Amino acid sequence: MKFATKLIHAGIHPDPSTGAVMTPIFQTSTYAQSSPGVHKGYEYSRTHNPTRTVLQENLAALEEGKYGLCYATGLAATDAVMKILKPGDEVLASSDLYGGTYRLFTKIYENFGIKFKFLKIQTAADVEPHLSAATKLVWVETPTNPLLRIVDIASVAELTKSKGLLLAVDNTFATPFLQNPLTLGADIVMHSLTKYMAGHSDVVMGALIVKDDELHQKLAFVQNASGATPGPMDCFLVLRGLKTLHVRMERHCKSARELANWLYRHPKVGHVYYPGLEHHVGHAVAASQMNDFGGMVSFTLKNDSLPEAVKVMENLKVFTLAESLGGVESLCTHPASMTHASIPKEEREKNGLKDTLIRLSVGLEDIDDLKEDLANAIG
Ligand SMILES: *Cc1c(COP(=O)(O)O)cnc(C)c1O
Repeated sequence: MKFATKLIHAGIHPDPSTGAVMTPIFQTSTYAQSSPGVHKGYEYSRTHNPTRTVLQENLAALEEGKYGLCYATGLAATDAVMKILKPGDEVLASSDLYGGTYRLFTKIYENFGIKFKFLKIQTAADVEPHLSAATKLVWVETPTNPLLRIVDIASVAELTKSKGLLLAVDNTFATPFLQNPLTLGADIVMHSLTKYMAGHSDVVMGALIVKDDELHQKLAFVQNASGATPGPMDCFLVLRGLKTLHVRMERHCKSARELANWLYRHPKVGHVYYPGLEHHVGHAVAASQMNDFGGMVSFTLKNDSLPEAVKVMENLKVFTLAESLGGVESLCTHPASMTHASIPKEEREKNGLKDTLIRLSVGLEDIDDLKEDLANAIG
């Protein structure tokens, strides 16, 4: 089955009891048993819920995995991965990371004795010198948030496989429409479904997708034992959003490419971060491992003035100044004070994230209106 067909059909069947074409919202916590322990595969909705099962199977197919696991939020999905580690284990992670992931690692799991090293990761060569006997997991995002740096997934996966380590890839920015980390050798794909996957800024949810049976068993145990599972209504909303992921992503990518090129030529714009631009570090790797370059664009002003960058963000009218990304509406974010405020300024600057950086999530509005809005705001 091709990707567009999978979005609409994988794991999805008309409801056997009624013929309902759309997946019903099984708003129930419990399930009748005909005799103690005799049931239809469902006992309690923390463990399994039929609406969630359909979504999990759909996600597994989209990511070329075997198993999908859904969690209440993206961070709850990441949290579940941390819970299969033990005190003393070490995680090597990208230094350019979603702020909440960094906060979870450093403010919660360091307290439980898990060690983290944050590295600028592009290929296996950036990881190998830092491996130790305690290293168990490598955690990367690509494209990264908000600098849109690219990690060569196949290169890092070759190293982690040879050393018996797990590689987890946060695929939130790319979505399976653009890349499938599991086919490039990763062990775990993580998603904030809140973003492009659900796509309408009306639900928060996360997921993990894996191929390996034993890894799935460990994560499914955590999913049930820790209980950060989503409700059936939210699963329904994500399933509905996913049906149009391909057409949405095509337009997100097309408009983002056009805006990135336009910003690049704008006399008042300094640096433009977009993997589709030829000068972008990692452009060649992005071109080979992704089907297109995504809907996120970051930029700075030439004068690098924070008050002026703030003015641009205040002046935007079609772009809404808000956290998050990946919805049908265009959003503008100031990473330093919003999504990445939980990373200390010193750490941010060491990683190349300036306080003057503006991040855009390019939505599905008419490109002329988006361009005019930016032109007016930049002045
Ligand atoms: C939003 C986001 C997360 C966290 O997901 P939530 O659904 O907000 O918990 C993780 N990684 C990336 C790249 C994100 O954009």
